[in-house]
Amino acid sequence: MKLVRFDQGKWGILEGETIYQTDGPGGNPTGNAFDIGSVQLRSPAEPSKIVCVGRNYLEHIRELGNDFGNNLPKEPGLFLKGLNTLADPANPASPDNTGEAVPYPSFTSLLHYEGELAVVIGSQMKNVPEDRALEHVLGYTCALDVTARDVQKTDLQWVRAKSSDKFCPLGPWLVTDLEPEKTTVRTYINDQLRQEAPTSMMIFSVSKVLSYISSFMTLEPGDVVLTGTPEGVGELKRGDKVVVAVEGLGDLHTRIAH
Ligand code: MG
Repeated sequence: MKLVRFDQGKWGILEGETIYQTDGPGGNPTGNAFDIGSVQLRSPAEPSKIVCVGRNYLEHIRELGNDFGNNLPKEPGLFLKGLNTLADPANPASPDNTGEAVPYPSFTSLLHYEGELAVVIGSQMKNVPEDRALEHVLGYTCALDVTARDVQKTDLQWVRAKSSDKFCPLGPWLVTDLEPEKTTVRTYINDQLRQEAPTSMMIFSVSKVLSYISSFMTLEPGDVVLTGTPEGVGELKRGDKVVVAVEGLGDLHTRIAH
């Protein structure tokens, strides 16, 4: 099932080209229906926090020069992105609708893309064991973890590098029945494939990550978890078109402002 958030924050179920409005994410039908081409798609989540895993694919750790040798990280390395980072996706059914552009801030000269599988929580999670974690997921979507790589290396914390305005395009919708360990994440820049990896290559699985977070931080319905990026990260230029495509989900189309 595909869950869509649109216009002023309405929710609906997408079937074919029609959105059947519901009274919340996965809620009861209101009787209203909309053509998907006629709406503005919104980030498909209303989180209280966005929790992100850094360095969750081995080859990405190596490409950033953080070689652990044979000593893989024992626990997921986490950071937060602010809610100001959410950016609405383009509407694939409406070519003129390009969504919200990611600004290119003046403080950086090295903006990077990180395409990722994102998880949206459906029910509260506190101390949930790994084998029950996926029961609390509302759905999955695509995320672009925009990163100012130069200041990530020099600032004390990653606030500017990870949480500048619109640094987290998310969408285009949620898919509720994806198997998160059996899909593939791809990122295209101006139609060229730059990242491609099966999610089975994650060091910490989605179940493990969610369980781990819930051991010290209550995850609330709507919260977003970014699961880390594969190898192949690289530079974004002004005006670039970015597509994050997670197999079985649909494509997140976004762009970098001029
Ligand atoms: Mg990332």
